[in-house]
Amino acid sequence: MERRDFLKKTGAAAAAVAGTAVSAPAVLAAEKTYRWKMVTTWAPNTPVLQTGAEMFAKQVEAATGGRIKIQVFAAGELVPALGTFDAVSDGTVECGSGASYYQAGKSPAAQWFSSVPFGLNPQGMNTWFYSAGGLKLWEEVYAPFNVVPRPQGNTGVQMGGWFRKEMKSIDDYKGLKMRIPGLGGKVVAKAGGTVVLLPGGEIFTSLERGVIDATEWVGPLLDLRAGFYKAAQYYYYPGWHEPGTTLEVIFNKKAYESLPKDLQMTLDAVAMQTNLWSLSQAEAGNGAALEELINVHKVNLMRFPDPLLEDLRKLAAEVLEEEAAKDPMAKKVNEAFKKFKKQIGVWGAVSGRPYYDVIAGKYALKSE
Ligand code: CA
Repeated sequence: MERRDFLKKTGAAAAAVAGTAVSAPAVLAAEKTYRWKMVTTWAPNTPVLQTGAEMFAKQVEAATGGRIKIQVFAAGELVPALGTFDAVSDGTVECGSGASYYQAGKSPAAQWFSSVPFGLNPQGMNTWFYSAGGLKLWEEVYAPFNVVPRPQGNTGVQMGGWFRKEMKSIDDYKGLKMRIPGLGGKVVAKAGGTVVLLPGGEIFTSLERGVIDATEWVGPLLDLRAGFYKAAQYYYYPGWHEPGTTLEVIFNKKAYESLPKDLQMTLDAVAMQTNLWSLSQAEAGNGAALEELINVHKVNLMRFPDPLLEDLRKLAAEVLEEEAAKDPMAKKVNEAFKKFKKQIGVWGAVSGRPYYDVIAGKYALKSE
């Protein structure tokens, strides 16, 4: 065989193999670059919240070799903070980042996927989503809006908030003006408090001037950054109202489904990665910031008294049933959540809880 013929034949054979292994549309899809926009609910540079959304975009570009490029816009840069869900739903942008309780007005059932008062901690939330049907339910709740949700971050167990007076019993909520959104706010209102809704940027001044008596925000990392210790004397724990707040990345359904399968799977995998990254950032940052609040700023770290927590817990159960009664989907989600919480709670009572009890003495706070 002539060398030229051999090259021709092997070349043709290689082309034939390539032709059978990779079909033409797949090759085209692989070469296509998707340029997406992401809008978020968060202020620029906010640790965990905005940095989590930016980490997601960065990792997606790296993991896809640049086939998906996501440009991230913080709150107000393209749409208002609470306009992100609508922008994703109507296809103005392909994706967004926020938290599901902001969608309570659209669908009461949405509230269970961010955080529930006296509900699940971060580990419990992730277990529910990934291994006990929680994410499937969340997809069902968002489907009518053409939105596909994925857990994308978690703030950890939040703090109870900053108070200008001591909280000794449930009666101390009567007439208390507090900034506390969502289901937690409904519980405080039931206890006789006045819930004040304020955008993040106005909380500090309102607290400092006594327009409000108390505020919750997130945890030591973000609370220290906001400077609340300069405006309120008492820093309470635990954050009964947000014990494991999940942050979401949301995709426009059409945009998500237009992607080849491998890119859909990459988005899902990176969301899972960012979920763990954000929680780790929050936990590491909270530990360091709490130390600074105690040792440098000398805050009065206070634990809510048990009888007060017990009273709040009863009110929270009533609030959840009232919210669940608003529509059939909310009822379905509430029932599933309660069932899972009970089951995982029994396991927690013999795994996590006794372990924490054993080590609690080692890390007990000086104020206790
Ligand atoms: Ca909060």
